Amino acid sequence: MSDVPAQRGLPHGVPRDVLGPVAPAPGEAAFDDDHPPRRDLVDDCVHCGFCLPTCPTYVLWGEEMDSPRGRIHLMKQGLDGEPLTPSMVAHVDRCLGCMACVTACPSGVRYDRLIEDTRQQVERRHRRPRRERVLRAAVFALFPYPRRLRLLRGPLRAYQASGLRRLVGRTGLLPRLAPQLAALDSLAPRIGAAGRLPERIAARGPRRATVGMLTGCVQHTFFPEVNAATARVLAAEGCDVLILPERQGCCGALSVHNGRRAEAQRFARALVDAFDSAGIDYFVVNAAGCGSALKEYGELLADDPAYAERAASFAGAVRDLCELLVELGSVAPRHPLPVTVAYHDACHLAHAQGVRAQPRELLRAVPRLALREIADPEICCGSAGVWNVLNPEPAGQLGERKAHDVLATGAELLVTANPGCLMQIAAAVRRQGGDLAVAHTAQVLDASIRARPVDDLLR
Ligand code: SF4
Ligand code: SF4
Repeated sequence: MSDVPAQRGLPHGVPRDVLGPVAPAPGEAAFDDDHPPRRDLVDDCVHCGFCLPTCPTYVLWGEEMDSPRGRIHLMKQGLDGEPLTPSMVAHVDRCLGCMACVTACPSGVRYDRLIEDTRQQVERRHRRPRRERVLRAAVFALFPYPRRLRLLRGPLRAYQASGLRRLVGRTGLLPRLAPQLAALDSLAPRIGAAGRLPERIAARGPRRATVGMLTGCVQHTFFPEVNAATARVLAAEGCDVLILPERQGCCGALSVHNGRRAEAQRFARALVDAFDSAGIDYFVVNAAGCGSALKEYGELLADDPAYAERAASFAGAVRDLCELLVELGSVAPRHPLPVTVAYHDACHLAHAQGVRAQPRELLRAVPRLALREIADPEICCGSAGVWNVLNPEPAGQLGERKAHDVLATGAELLVTANPGCLMQIAAAVRRQGGDLAVAHTAQVLDASIRARPVDDLLR
């Protein structure tokens, strides 16, 4: 993905707009007419406050302007001609985009649409302080590029194996000197062997469907075993799995969820090009944030005549792994896994895609697996894409709250469907001195189908 020219002081491939727009004229209205938050959607909010207890930032700070209702009020002010002030931007930035408020709202307010439109206005029209611009430039020059992320694997593995990580942790200096770097250090999972996926994996037994499979950026780089398990489960359930690993890049989720719409559109077009003539029935995703963005490709590319129709049709074929497995019905026999599991709802799976019942149904169908529920499942763990890197302190607080609730279940294994949640909760459990194995839903199903010993999951 290096279709953008190099910019002085930044790695090749970093878009020109990466350091943000020039400062707007003083007093200029917050929004221009390029997709401002829609006034009819803003007006749907009746200020009832039912969403407040589910909003992680309101739970943390109890500030009206850090609640969904408060943020909608700020959008209304922007639509009424108020300027985009640093304070307004801070309240917008603090939103995790977890969409718990969308689930909680009895009036059906489309906060997801509102925040996405607001964020792309902020990204185009607000000039952030230099330190923030540089941090964001670095984050977005790295995370949506699997090839660049892969270059980190070697040094990170050496850093972890050398004992340097423990030494740095013992000094306690990193969180004070560079909190964002400290957050990355504590989140990074143990780097294992790199996996290589083939172009295609044939269905076992009669073919029931042909599916494309997203490999993702963080998933592909840090959790290759999750992708391998996903492909095996799909094949065992009668799917021909088309992976095309060399043709896949980022799906654009990180970019679109952070207001970088043009960048997200570039990624989306490339993925549609790679798969829409490949003859697939479904496009399967095993990362919650990616799945929710992919299902919105129709909206993301609606203004592009060359792609609007193709993107909408592609989005219609997107399924979360568990969603598709339940839709198809299982044919592969399950073997017992004697283990107690706490299942964590990733926000972009539960709130953004409404996929809650399917993972539970699939886990319950594994013989001898006992499923436990986590208290306050609607509250985000604080991962939220790169929110935990950009906001390490509150993200840490949310992570610890979630880790406490997970440990209280007494489960041996935490299962979820998003790499960010896995890393965030595992890091918070470690900080609390807890000991808990973590796995993706696909790994549990794969272990059950292949009759693997449960210790494979608990290592
Ligand atoms: S998306 Fe999450 S953090 Fe943002 S306002 Fe809604 S509940 Fe709060
Ligand atoms: S977003 Fe929905 S739940 Fe929240 S205050 Fe507005 S109408 Fe009520």
